[in-house]
Amino acid sequence: MSDIIQLLPDAIANQIAAGEVVQRPSSALKELLENSVDAGATHVQVIIKDAGKQLLQVIDNGKGMSATDARMSFERHATSKIRTSQDLFAIKTFGFRGEALASIAAVAQVELKTRQVESELGTLIQIEGSEVKKQEPVATPVGTSVAMKNLFFNVPARRNFLKSNPVEMRHLVEEFQRVALSYPEVAFTMYQQDLETYNLPSGKLSQRIVGLFGKSYQGQLIPCEELTPHVNVKGYIGKPENAKKTRGEQFFFVNNRYIRSSYLHHAVSSAFEGLIQSEQHPFYVLFLEIDPAHIDINVHPTKTEIKFDDERTVYAVIRSAVKQALGAHHITPAIDFSV
Ligand code: ADP
Ligand code: MG
Repeated sequence: MSDIIQLLPDAIANQIAAGEVVQRPSSALKELLENSVDAGATHVQVIIKDAGKQLLQVIDNGKGMSATDARMSFERHATSKIRTSQDLFAIKTFGFRGEALASIAAVAQVELKTRQVESELGTLIQIEGSEVKKQEPVATPVGTSVAMKNLFFNVPARRNFLKSNPVEMRHLVEEFQRVALSYPEVAFTMYQQDLETYNLPSGKLSQRIVGLFGKSYQGQLIPCEELTPHVNVKGYIGKPENAKKTRGEQFFFVNNRYIRSSYLHHAVSSAFEGLIQSEQHPFYVLFLEIDPAHIDINVHPTKTEIKFDDERTVYAVIRSAVKQALGAHHITPAIDFSV
């Protein structure tokens, strides 16, 4: 009789985990942007080359990391954001799994530069396929820059699965929009092939919507708000006459985290019933605030699904908030809601 079970080496375990966390450039962008926001950044820059296949870099002016933490940040299950299982039920940050950087570094060539305000020099780490190639002090601004190069350089099968640049770029922009919407007070800039494609100054949500989706939204947004003991709903809906044929500009955030929910989407579209044609889709950006004890965000690594313990109440509050907002808009159409 012989024993045959072994623990996998870290590099392989990380690569397997990466399969869930990093499917395409946009999943890495989501993780990097969330890390920047978690680090308290007030300005975040995104640099994209070849739809993120060649380069995806996120530069922030957040709190940075010490040299030891910079190295630790690439270990799997290494996180500064939770410590106990109790913390899992009161998550206030985007991150908490400690998997993103380990996963990205398992399937790409990563260069991290980071500095804390109290240190004169920062830290540079180069890591490829989970292998640290270089770690040394470096002169760098306060904050963190993570450059992800040649995604899936060591997993050719997955690299081949990446879609065309326009498709991957669309996914990148979607992730960018989601984070940019949930943090209008943070300034975001995006560069594609060295061209500035978004320049979003710190501002109000209505200004952020116009910055992301264009001037046609100026003056066309109806504020929406309903506060209840169980859940608060705040945000904007588009005027019925501006509903579009194509779906897409519809966003739900729960405690500032973007989520997908066809059930809650129905709450909004049913409130628009009779006001728009059935093939049209209303614009909405709605933020739900709810006690974290009533939700479970730990459903999937990419965390766009969520469980509510009382989904029906949430549905009813959203529907009523949208109906009220539309009602107010119809009774007093002269009110100027412009930004
Ligand atoms: P998580 O965000 O789930 O903690 P990550 O792998 O994304 O896991 O990051 C690991 C740790 O690295 C974080 O907990 C944080 O302490 C640190 N870190 C990552 N990105 C940044 C950043 N942009 N600025 C400061 N610290 C960061
Ligand atoms: Mg993270």
